[in-house]
Amino acid sequence: MTAKRTALYPGTFDPITNGHLDIMARGAKLVDELVIGVAINEGKKPLFSVEERVAMAKEELAPVAKATGTLIRVEAFDGLLVHFAESLGAQFILRGLRAVADFEYEYQMVGMNAFLNDDIETIFLMADPHHQAIASKLVKEIARLGGKINDFVPPAVEKALLAKFE
Ligand code: ADP
Repeated sequence: MTAKRTALYPGTFDPITNGHLDIMARGAKLVDELVIGVAINEGKKPLFSVEERVAMAKEELAPVAKATGTLIRVEAFDGLLVHFAESLGAQFILRGLRAVADFEYEYQMVGMNAFLNDDIETIFLMADPHHQAIASKLVKEIARLGGKINDFVPPAVEKALLAKFE
């Protein structure tokens, strides 16, 4: 029997967007279990608390889990990504790639993580072109300025964002 394939999809998810969900759905097709790791990341001064970010991710993953048959769960984490991946027994780290700007940072992360644990492979996926430009940071900015965000986030997240900026 082959070992269960587990991937960790880490991020700040402040909040979860259609871009994240696109990567999640693609990643879920590759593994038996997908763990969405919500980084507490207080240093980034998230708009949503970690509890809110976890709750939103949990709500949105259900249809993806149903469609793919993959076990998907959400966990908050703090500290080193590689240590968290090890604690889960994950063989893979899943990341999304958007533009060239993501590449430089991701390139460094892979290089450094390889020093810490070279057995964990990072898998990069690209979202559908419609979702590629979506970034939590810009969605928050648009919501703050009163723009339409329904193309970028699921309805429950849109509601939560509008409530934050009311
Ligand atoms: P982080 O703080 O780790 O960058 P994010 O929540 O911004 O956390 O992103 C988590 C992961 O999802 C990253 O790998 C990021 O590149 C990816 N991602 C976010 N939005 C998109 C998108 N629109 N298309 C593809 N990947 C994306």
